[in-house]
Amino acid sequence: MTASVVDPQLPPEAGPPSPNVIELDALKKWFDIGRGLFRGSIPLKAVDGVTLAIARGETLAVVGESGSGKTTLGRTVIRLLEPTDGRLLYDGQDITHQSEKELMWLRRKAQMIPQDPYSSVNPAFPVYRILEEPLVIHKEGDRAQRGEAVMKALQSVKLNPPEFFANKYPHMLSGGQRQRVAIARALMLNPAFILADEPVSMLDASVRISILRLLRQIQHTFGISFLYITHDLATAKHFSDRIGIMYAGRLVEEGPVGGVLGEPLHPYTKALMSAIPDPDPANRLTVRQGLPGEPPSLISPPTGCHFHPRCPIAQAGLCDVQDPEMRELRPNHRVACHLAS
Ligand code: SF4
Repeated sequence: MTASVVDPQLPPEAGPPSPNVIELDALKKWFDIGRGLFRGSIPLKAVDGVTLAIARGETLAVVGESGSGKTTLGRTVIRLLEPTDGRLLYDGQDITHQSEKELMWLRRKAQMIPQDPYSSVNPAFPVYRILEEPLVIHKEGDRAQRGEAVMKALQSVKLNPPEFFANKYPHMLSGGQRQRVAIARALMLNPAFILADEPVSMLDASVRISILRLLRQIQHTFGISFLYITHDLATAKHFSDRIGIMYAGRLVEEGPVGGVLGEPLHPYTKALMSAIPDPDPANRLTVRQGLPGEPPSLISPPTGCHFHPRCPIAQAGLCDVQDPEMRELRPNHRVACHLAS
């Protein structure tokens, strides 16, 4: 592993390893919105009953428009936010309501790669200190061991020669190099799981592919599971094993990349796919009708299927009244739509 001073950490009292690193069971994260003295508060349902699992060494992309709740979902999964309801399991252990003190082990095992690498590092620190800091906080190794781990991490993210980059300050690096430093920092404590929240959205198109390739390589080399949060189906297609499509706080379709993008079942997935640019005619996705309207408010979403006001095949008396259940229509491929078959 990258930072050799750290042994893999298991949660306390862990039993045999679960096949899934992460499991969500009807997970909810609601925020109370103040509405005045006598009107009480009403919930903003950012995550509203999401059920999914991420297997060991697997990458799941969660894709949705802005405001769909995907970033809140990611932050809840690594317990930067406490769930409102449902269950969150890590390695089979229920961590839904564990305290910050109980979650110390999770702060090593689960790391995050942010959208903006510049905002996540102290600009006054050289790269060496930025990478050493997690080891110092978690009291890992002596100075020499930490130094060795920093050099290995820089090599893992292809910042060579590592001594050259270790002495640079963030403002001396390009956007792509800064994101490589952010990835190296996420690797310092030998995580089993990484949340990557729009990690390439602020980079030039030419750099995006190389960063996604690096993440894929890291996933294969170290067997790390990823939750990749993005609004971009094209990058999800290249980086992920499975894709979940999120709409208004709920998962509406989830399955293997080939199934979801090759033969989508949900009208929302089909509409999202119309935006994927693909220069190869053989790979061009066929649905081109676009997506009219705006995503709904998470404070007062539409009744029944939240997508029904925008859905081209919505059925009155059904879709606007009843919530569609998630159903497995193909092996490991689930969809929440009354009319999908
Ligand atoms: Fe459209 Fe109805 Fe399916 Fe919702 S349940 S996606 S409104 S067809």
